[in-house]
Amino acid sequence: MILNINDHKYHYELENICRLFFPYEPLTVTESNVINTNNNTINVFENDSSLSVSGSLFEHIFSKTRDYEKNIADDELIIESALFLFEIFSNITNIRPHWGILTGVRPSKLMRTLINKNGRKEAQNYFINRLLVTPEKTKLTYDVAQNENKIISLSKPEHYSLYISIPFCPTRCSYCSFVSHSVEQAKTLIPLYIKNLCEEIKYTAQIADKLNLKLSTIYWGGGTPTSLNVEQINMIAKTISENFYVSAALEYTVEAGRPDTITFEKLQTLSENKVNRISINPQTFNDAVLIEIGRKHTAQDTFDAYNLARKFDFNINMDLITGLPTDTVDSFKNSIDTAINLNPDNITIHTLALKRASKLVSQIGIDKATGDTQSMLEYANKNLENNGYIPYYLYRQSRTIGNLENVGWAKVNTECFYNVYMMEEVHSVFGCGGGAVTKLRNPFNNEISRIFNFKYPYEYNIRFNEILERKNNIITYYNSIKMP
Ligand code: SF4
Repeated sequence: MILNINDHKYHYELENICRLFFPYEPLTVTESNVINTNNNTINVFENDSSLSVSGSLFEHIFSKTRDYEKNIADDELIIESALFLFEIFSNITNIRPHWGILTGVRPSKLMRTLINKNGRKEAQNYFINRLLVTPEKTKLTYDVAQNENKIISLSKPEHYSLYISIPFCPTRCSYCSFVSHSVEQAKTLIPLYIKNLCEEIKYTAQIADKLNLKLSTIYWGGGTPTSLNVEQINMIAKTISENFYVSAALEYTVEAGRPDTITFEKLQTLSENKVNRISINPQTFNDAVLIEIGRKHTAQDTFDAYNLARKFDFNINMDLITGLPTDTVDSFKNSIDTAINLNPDNITIHTLALKRASKLVSQIGIDKATGDTQSMLEYANKNLENNGYIPYYLYRQSRTIGNLENVGWAKVNTECFYNVYMMEEVHSVFGCGGGAVTKLRNPFNNEISRIFNFKYPYEYNIRFNEILERKNNIITYYNSIKMP
């Protein structure tokens, strides 16, 4: 499929609309003043005060022109162009995407900005009438924005969160596109990786102290942090508790992830080091689907890990995914019912994202993952709400089936602070480890700057000195914004 644009400034938004309706079609963008008459081509030409869209797509031929005000503001022109293309594609495909032309990652951030500017009613109207978001998704976004408020209000300008990256997993899930190495493959890298990580953690603590910053939350992600052995976990956890004032943190999460990596000893070590939230992620309670996605555990492993973890005082999160290969609406409903019966503090519902780098897309074929994700989400939302969970965290990813969302649900007062701080970019996050990103947020103007660590563990090990040098940019940054 070709998107041919004449000098149009908003390639990005128009590409997004094409991907929204034709997510599995390879898309090429060209820039030319000449109409391309090839099949499966869309020409978008902006003239003085009008926009013309013409072309042919899957045997539909179209040619339309729409006028707009001569002095239209740039952001309004973006919306007009996107709506125009949306309408044409919607007529051709008979599809009405639930999130309308809204393609951003953080709908609740936009909702909050609109509420602050124009009030609740106007904000909701804008979502429904201008961005064409359905009333259901608008309500979900509004609820999330409301529930996030109390968490956001706890953050102060001097606060930061600490992220620890453990990019290793027992095996690779078929839908995964992260830089995560299997523990087996990475065996020789891991000891040096942990030594370097501990060094980076210490150095980060020194920087935070020097700048008088206050630790708000800690989060170990990956990967699967509990794919490390108990000594390795202990070494990292001790380094954190010896260098940071962990007791003052609002929350300390370790994403255990795979149930088959969880043991009593690992949980004990985490608990002794003041971890108070963990994630045990079944993804589904259907064993056949687990085999299909390449996870070497069963539903029973999840029950066992959950019961073990309940012997400690953790808040527990469980992740489920809609749209997994070979999963059905009924099987997903069973997964939701099972999770709710277990009564974890948090349940996070993801929509499967078909990432190009995943085995599912590159080798298995996406036709295996075509589930009715919207029906699955509707069932999940209704039942989570009926069982006392509130939506408190929402984000969207590209290439999800049906272009749908990911939502964190929690029993009241068990919401994960880190998820909100990170997703809504409330304060700085200092990242340690391979692939981690340090996100520096200016509390006075909300601007974000980033410092990237090397992506792959071997690179992280080999070029570790550069990582420490880059960390000094945190000092330069905070000095430049003159914290009180
Ligand atoms: S557990 Fe997560 S990071 Fe690890 S392979 Fe599966 S999807 Fe990727």
